[in-house]
Amino acid sequence: MKIDLHSHSTHSDGKESVEQIFQYAAEAGITTLALTDHDTTAGWAEARVEAAKHGITFVPGIEITTNHHGVSVHMLAYLPDASYEPLQRTLAEIRVNRGTRIERYVENLREHYKTLTMDAVRATLMEEGKSLGRPHIADAMAALNLVADRDEAFAGPLDKDAKFFVPSAGIDTVEAVKLIKASGGVSIMAHPMARESKKKDLVITEQHRENFTALIREGLDGFEVNHREVGNVARAWLTGLVEEFDLIVTGSSDYHGMGGKPNRLGERKTDLEMLKRIEAQATGSAIQWA
Ligand code: AMP
Ligand code: FE
Ligand code: FE
Ligand code: ZN
Repeated sequence: MKIDLHSHSTHSDGKESVEQIFQYAAEAGITTLALTDHDTTAGWAEARVEAAKHGITFVPGIEITTNHHGVSVHMLAYLPDASYEPLQRTLAEIRVNRGTRIERYVENLREHYKTLTMDAVRATLMEEGKSLGRPHIADAMAALNLVADRDEAFAGPLDKDAKFFVPSAGIDTVEAVKLIKASGGVSIMAHPMARESKKKDLVITEQHRENFTALIREGLDGFEVNHREVGNVARAWLTGLVEEFDLIVTGSSDYHGMGGKPNRLGERKTDLEMLKRIEAQATGSAIQWA
């Protein structure tokens, strides 16, 4: 079994269509794949068709943009009911705010990169109404020869500490956990402490414990511990938390396609037992088993 529960298509900031992703997943021997585009369920219908074509089990998901005490937190929602109106209304609001944030970002960048325009950013999009993000600015800057690729953009002008930065537009993390539950879904924190893990000397504090246990009390179901951006210190501590509170633990690639991010399909995996726990807890939508 090769179970990969985190991937992105052209409906958000992935470089490949849903059709291409499932083609590559089949070639990579992936048995089970979740599509988890940022703040949208637009790719699910196509994913069901493509997964069936290749004999791959499909897990519907979303990666919801949230903020917890000023820290950007990505929250994976598995098997929510996509027809639940409050869920779609909130996702639509986040997508609008994503667009506004990118417009402000482009305004900031234009002080230095005069050829960059919002039209150039929109020209990189292959889907209508998709979730805009920094990667699309990166693609536009690459098309205008302002940077070589996404990596160079993120290491330079799009870095969080560069002067152009505009904070991301998400909902409160606790609100997201509750919304996922109300949608019949299961909430798993994506790549927990990824940003902090970049520090060589990460030290776990009482504040970390307070923040994380508060979310667990509010109903957070688990952590994506096995992800390339979760460092060893975070991983060891989170593994302890998972055992203490009997939570779900997942592993995934966070695939964004060739040229999207270096992450390759199936580079991290989830145990079948954990997928079964997600299925057992969810009431919103179903896994499409191959
Ligand atoms: P945003 O959501 O607009 O703040 O942008 C963050 C997104 O950019 C994440 O979801 C990642 O998919 C993507 N990302 C972060 N770092 C990189 C990178 N170095 N290269 C390509 N994409 C990246
Ligand atoms: Fe992304
Ligand atoms: Fe993420
Ligand atoms: Zn992701």
